[in-house]
Amino acid sequence: MLVVMKQGATTQEIDAVAAQIQSMGFTPHVIPGALRTAIGITGNRGPEGREILAMMPGVDDVIRVTSPYKLVSRETHPEPTIVTAGGVTIGGGGFTLCGGPCSVENEKMILETAHKLAALGVRLLRGGAYKPRTSPYAFQGLGEEGLRYLARARAETGMGIVTEVMDVESVGRVEEVADILQVGARNMQNYPLLRRLSLCRKPVLLKRGLAATLEEWLMAAEYVMSGNNRQVILCERGVRTFADHTRNTLDLSIVPVVKKLSHLPVVVDPSHGTGKSEFVPAMSLAGLAVGADGLLVEVHPDPPHALSDGAQSLNFEQFAALCKALRPVAAALGVEVR
Ligand code: PEP
Ligand code: MN
Repeated sequence: MLVVMKQGATTQEIDAVAAQIQSMGFTPHVIPGALRTAIGITGNRGPEGREILAMMPGVDDVIRVTSPYKLVSRETHPEPTIVTAGGVTIGGGGFTLCGGPCSVENEKMILETAHKLAALGVRLLRGGAYKPRTSPYAFQGLGEEGLRYLARARAETGMGIVTEVMDVESVGRVEEVADILQVGARNMQNYPLLRRLSLCRKPVLLKRGLAATLEEWLMAAEYVMSGNNRQVILCERGVRTFADHTRNTLDLSIVPVVKKLSHLPVVVDPSHGTGKSEFVPAMSLAGLAVGADGLLVEVHPDPPHALSDGAQSLNFEQFAALCKALRPVAAALGVEVR
């Protein structure tokens, strides 16, 4: 259920409704809006207590939220969520670029990448210090050392840092450095991790699972929002299909569907979505055209020698060409590239 407060409802009236919800054994989630405040209710099974709430001072309406995800749903929050990180916004219009290597491999390469991207106007730097690799023998990331290099990259360029957190145990360490905590596709349904992240003060970028349905993905986002973390960004990175011409099948059709059902920003990862750098520019332009809120692109100083995901990484020249190609398309759509 969702309690919609009247325009101009007082703080006392809002607090009283929240307290009433709590006394009924449910959890209130106060959602301030541009015009009025709404209070989402979770933990209830049906419309119990609806009449009591509807009669309280300052309450305009009490409506049932029909989707299984409540806080993620547009029914609960009609305006788009805008996430701010690294001095740039994601969501609510605009197309936000985030680039960087798959893995932080050494200090020199991450600093070089950060400076090159910053010079192109990119405000968010991606790079994994903790890497979920298919093979236990593959490069697993530099861990804490990688986090230190990311912190240095931020100090030198002012860019916001997007980096993956793989387990509950390392959340605190990653949170100290990251401006956005990435949950990888393999961890989309790691519920203890999602619950821990729901208590974080930093935004979470939640990648779609390798074979996740729309509802499974949005329910995972609901886990993150069910604590007090409302800053969630969804990331479509391709799903497993019978097709083998690309690494994954980038499901761009999910973008407008998510935007209809949810207020959360959605970005597209054409790198994991295709697995091949030559197709990354086309799918990036398509992501922009389909209404995504931004891109997460793998960029490496020397892709043939990358320690992970080299085949899908753009070099600096290719990434600069992509930035240039995005601008006229964005202008035609009336969207600002950030
Ligand atoms: C990554 O971003 O490098 C990554 C591991 O992505 P995914 O979880 O989408 O495979
Ligand atoms: Mn990668």
